[in-house]
Amino acid sequence: VRAIATAEIIAVGSEMLGPDRTDTNSPQITRRLNTLGIEVRAKRIVGDDLEGLAASVADALERVDLLVLTGGLGPTDDDLTREAVARVLGRAVREDEALVRAIRARFERRGMRMPEINRRQAQIIDGAEPLANPNGTAPGQWIEHGEQLVVLLPGPPGEMAPMLDAMIEERLGRRAGSHRLARRSVRLAGTTESHAEERLRPLYARWASRDPVIAATILAARGQLELQLSLRSADPAAGDLRLDEAVADVQDAFGGDVFSVGGQSLEEVVGALLRDRGWRIAVGESCTGGLVTGRLTEVAGSSAYLDRGVVAYSNRAKTELLGVAEDLIAAHGAVSEPVALAMAEGARHLAGVEVGVGVTGIAGPGGGTPAKPVGTVIFAVVVPERHRTRTALLPGGRSLVRLFATTAALDLVRRTILDV
Ligand code: ATP
Ligand code: MG
Repeated sequence: VRAIATAEIIAVGSEMLGPDRTDTNSPQITRRLNTLGIEVRAKRIVGDDLEGLAASVADALERVDLLVLTGGLGPTDDDLTREAVARVLGRAVREDEALVRAIRARFERRGMRMPEINRRQAQIIDGAEPLANPNGTAPGQWIEHGEQLVVLLPGPPGEMAPMLDAMIEERLGRRAGSHRLARRSVRLAGTTESHAEERLRPLYARWASRDPVIAATILAARGQLELQLSLRSADPAAGDLRLDEAVADVQDAFGGDVFSVGGQSLEEVVGALLRDRGWRIAVGESCTGGLVTGRLTEVAGSSAYLDRGVVAYSNRAKTELLGVAEDLIAAHGAVSEPVALAMAEGARHLAGVEVGVGVTGIAGPGGGTPAKPVGTVIFAVVVPERHRTRTALLPGGRSLVRLFATTAALDLVRRTILDV
């Protein structure tokens, strides 16, 4: 039989079409399929409606080798996955006596009688093999259909995940062929998506010119970029080597803008730099209101290097808590490089630590001037050998400006420590 290379996932449940419930099963299923080198071509969420579900199943089977459905295996009338799949495959559904006994025993172990409607969960599509559900009543189903495969998994994530793992290990691994998907992520700060894209163009061309071809996608979030590289290869060692070369290409092209190649967050990278040097850090922030310190504390074990974060919103607080001279503020304004630097020096000095950070700016929507428009944020970092300041004009409204400012602040800490 042909190896399984492509898949579609259908999450069944009307509740996920509303605004409140999200389909968290599909990403998990995707991750596991990807490790086998199976490419997910489409995902959809379909309501509990027999016609619609059957149409989606039929459509998916026109396109892919493997169709995974999750949800709709419950005992009630709106649990229609079995029926819809049976209809499309032209097969009957029958009640499996052994499964009825197993479900009844499950209830009896908890001192309960099995409600008659639960018999529904013992319905098996002709030719399907049941997949054991140690965490619930409804078994999954594994259905070979010509060269294609259809797999039914339960909806509750606590039941779905263990069944998925067992199914991958015991069954799907053998059917997936020898190709495996390998991935790398390269994270960058200090450049924009379009600038990065421009510099990546020649690399894309190089990566596409030789087998195995490397696919690249770029994602932007809160002032950081993530470049995801992936390839399919039958030889994992050769695939890894090729991805290592691609990562090196990116590092050559972007230099100090690359902050991690192993998936670490910017706050983790900053934490590791401080830890390596045995340095501690203190932050004085104004317009970010503690968000920079908040990000530093997202890392477990950050108490090893974070001494304090001081929110100094008013001019008086900048003077009282960070020792910024009143006449410095009067001379340059609170949003100025001398004041940001004085905040960083004050935080560092008062905490008695090696690294100080100062952030001051105009998050908006009010308070901007022609010289200092909304989005103007000024950063200063002091380390034992040097200090740096940076004035940035950050895009977006108040919340984006503040978010981008946390990235810019942490990135300036990184660059100042590394001198890049
Ligand atoms: P049950 O036997 O519990 O009825 P089921 O297979 O019929 O299982 P559903 O009734 O469709 O599953 O879903 C039960 C619950 O599981 C939902 O209310 C929802 O909370 C959760 N769930 C279902 N599908 C998903 C999904 N794709 N992602 C996240 N949660 C889900
Ligand atoms: Mg449901």
